[in-house]
Amino acid sequence: MEIPLESHSDALIHKSQIKKTQKNLNQNNNQNQNENNPKLQKTSNKMAKRRKSSSLFFCCIEPNQMKTKKKKKKNRKKQKRMKQKLCQEKEQKLKRNSLSKCILSLTENSTTHLLPNQSTEDHGKKTLILDLDETLVHSSLDPISNPDYVLEVTVDSETYKVYVKKRPGVEEFLSSVGLNFEIIIFTASDTQYANAVIERFENKEVIKGRLFRDSCTQHESFYVKDLSLLGRDLKTTIIIDNSPMSYMWNKENSLPISTWINDPNDTELFKLSTLLQEIAHSDDTLKALSLLRK
Ligand SMILES: [Mg+2]
Repeated sequence: MEIPLESHSDALIHKSQIKKTQKNLNQNNNQNQNENNPKLQKTSNKMAKRRKSSSLFFCCIEPNQMKTKKKKKKNRKKQKRMKQKLCQEKEQKLKRNSLSKCILSLTENSTTHLLPNQSTEDHGKKTLILDLDETLVHSSLDPISNPDYVLEVTVDSETYKVYVKKRPGVEEFLSSVGLNFEIIIFTASDTQYANAVIERFENKEVIKGRLFRDSCTQHESFYVKDLSLLGRDLKTTIIIDNSPMSYMWNKENSLPISTWINDPNDTELFKLSTLLQEIAHSDDTLKALSLLRK
């Protein structure tokens, strides 16, 4: 016999209600049994007590707590991932900024400073700016007795003979100061001539930079060597020049030297070499220079 659909559904509901009622009855029976059975009651109380004590000493995890714990763990992992992502983004941003700054500094150095950055070899060394004429050599277009060399220099399509005499001790001086300083020749002379003179120095390899007249600043009738344009720390820069007008804007950086023409007994470079060894290791270069100028 076929049961109508409506009656079939009613039968299912009825069956489910019977099952539920049976479950409740069983639970009540168990409870009643526990209550009626002192032994079971005792065991149940004992277990409850044990759970309570355990929670005081250890981290007991109930199934519900376990779920919460898993959820929390998942959230923590998610947060950790987000944090890592943020850190990575921050690092990339910093790298980009530092690269931009580096490029900017290189551009600035090549456009506004007279000197390029210090070489790795000279990194951290103090900078020693040396004048050429009447400081390291004396040159003349007229013949002089016993020149160290005679140069042929072409300026404006005309070739000249230049007689050059080196100041006593110049080679020893360059060799000695080159160990502790970054050496730059800064002259108000013409580029062709000055380059030819420098090329004849035996110790020319210690000279790391050459600046000529076109790097000077003309002030009234003088060529001034403006050290602030070099691109070096002025606290650790020294200039040696026979003409005080050359460093009129940077007197605190100067170490004066007498004008040399032809005195074979001149000892200025030997004296300065000793003083410069002391300055090279001084913590305060400008203070050391001011004491030497007194
Ligand atoms: Mg000079």
